[in-house]
Amino acid sequence: MTNTVKKNSLNLVSFAVGSYACNCSILYSNVTREAIIIDPGNDQDFIFKKIKELNIDVKKLLHTHAHFDHIGRSSEISVATGATMHLHKGDQFLYDMLPQQGLFFGQKVGTPKPLDAHLLDGETFSFSDPEINTFLTTLHTPGHTPGSCCFYSDYFETPQLFAGDTLFQQSIGRTDLPGGDGKLIIKSIKERLLVLPDETQVIAGHGPSTKIYQEKRHNPFLH
Ligand SMILES: [Zn+2]
Repeated sequence: MTNTVKKNSLNLVSFAVGSYACNCSILYSNVTREAIIIDPGNDQDFIFKKIKELNIDVKKLLHTHAHFDHIGRSSEISVATGATMHLHKGDQFLYDMLPQQGLFFGQKVGTPKPLDAHLLDGETFSFSDPEINTFLTTLHTPGHTPGSCCFYSDYFETPQLFAGDTLFQQSIGRTDLPGGDGKLIIKSIKERLLVLPDETQVIAGHGPSTKIYQEKRHNPFLH
């Protein structure tokens, strides 16, 4: 998927990255060039190219969860750009197991550097660009992993949800990996995501984007 949205000086681009085609999103100000990357994936060279292309100053790397296809190369990106690394503490154990994840899935991953901060439910993000202010809120949505989070932005005309591997088009995240919980993921989706505005654009962790109202009506896992 590729998705581009803009309002005032805030820009959003989303694209697939890495061997598992993780959907990565970059939010940036075209005035101050400050940027936040959500789920940089596991192909750092691709991200370095994007950073150059967009001419951005990456401040923060936010992660929906700590599976290698979302966070596998974040350490290198953090070291190269100076961006801080953020992950919910519920996924710290998965982050610490990154080398083992790489071995299990037969993928190269970097040596995980220490995280800079644990994400908190309700935590918001902004840039120094006064036109933008607060544009992103963290929603803790455990189930796929204990520390899974979604990020929500109601700044754009169409609200945007960065859903990680919690909600997909007509599907939900798998819960058979360490720390997964099949009941909890349904509760998280129903209580935290389906209550968002119907027209919210859902940028899933993999595959096509969808809308909240479409998942309310057609997602077979939610009925
Ligand atoms: Zn995952």
